[in-house]
Amino acid sequence: MKNTNTCPKCHSQEIMRIPDLNYFSDNHYSNIIPTGLFSVARAKITRYICISCGFSEEWVESKKEIQNLLDAAKGPDPVEY
Ligand SMILES: [Zn+2]
Repeated sequence: MKNTNTCPKCHSQEIMRIPDLNYFSDNHYSNIIPTGLFSVARAKITRYICISCGFSEEWVESKKEIQNLLDAAKGPDPVEY
């Protein structure tokens, strides 16, 4: 939907893009993505909503933030005893 600008469900081309406004406010809860048991990373989530049928998609649009999620998923290096 983000790339084709067409809804995959109903083929409408009326797509609304909603940037992640919460990212810049005090409410970060919608932006915290669990990447492991104890690790989380933040990323801006942009939503694309079909005006016709309501189907929605969520995208992390920043390559850098995707890399941050990957790094957080790996977690810290394991401690050796
Ligand atoms: Zn649709």
